[in-house]
Amino acid sequence: MTPPTTETTLAPAGPLAIPGTNLHQLSVLLGHTERLATLGTLTASMAHELNNPVSIIISACNDVKGKLDEGSLDEEHAHRLLGVIEESAWRCARLVQTLSRYSHPAGPAFVPADLNEIINDTLTLLQYEFRTPVAVALVTALAPDLPPVLWDQNQISQVLVNLLTNARDALTPAGGEITIRSWAIPMEERVAFSVSDDGPGVPPAILGRIFEPFFTTKPAGQGTGLGLSIAAGIVAQHQGRITVANNPAGGVTFTVVLPTRPGER
Ligand code: ADP
Repeated sequence: MTPPTTETTLAPAGPLAIPGTNLHQLSVLLGHTERLATLGTLTASMAHELNNPVSIIISACNDVKGKLDEGSLDEEHAHRLLGVIEESAWRCARLVQTLSRYSHPAGPAFVPADLNEIINDTLTLLQYEFRTPVAVALVTALAPDLPPVLWDQNQISQVLVNLLTNARDALTPAGGEITIRSWAIPMEERVAFSVSDDGPGVPPAILGRIFEPFFTTKPAGQGTGLGLSIAAGIVAQHQGRITVANNPAGGVTFTVVLPTRPGER
């Protein structure tokens, strides 16, 4: 997969002629093969990433058992350890979910959907994740009367989750504002959404690299470097494009433009 840059557009596979195979089948096949090829590397990295939270869970459980045996487990300590276990278990769940989405062979299931509903549902889903001591305000500016779309809602929601989580991370610990916008581009039969934050932005030197698989600037154990590459893969499967630009006033905006009916193109 070619990583998009500020200027790059992710397009479906170019024309290739193999007798008896139509172009759509071929591009689905190529996409699947490419994903499977990446899967080996992904699995190795995922095993490494899982090791850390799993070790934390085991050691916290041992701590609880030891303290229970000694009869010295006070309520505050138990709460703290359970919090550590819960947080690490969530991390494992997210990693496994990421991997299974990436390896899903069936490709997107294009069904009728409404972009604003996908956005609102995703924000509801993230309420738990965003229940954080960091003060992050979520602002929506959603265009009314968007045309209906034929998308894989779960996958587009995954793109939003990845962008929103990154924005939240960029605003940690200072806090700030995340704005989600949606709008229609009627002449092109496309709709678009963007996720902006007023955090530190992406240093220009790495702007062209952030969509690469495993590229992360987050501390070990916190970033997998997969969020944006998976988002870009999903957008490409929907025959759309994802772009990134630092905002003049600070922070960054990710914009996703998608055809309303990609399955029919
Ligand atoms: P991860 O979040 O695990 O690091 P991603 O592929 O989602 O992996 O992101 C890659 C990198 O892109 C991040 O480590 C970060 O450096 C940069 N990045 C992504 N979103 C933002 C943002 N909203 N603000 C600043 N940097 C960002």
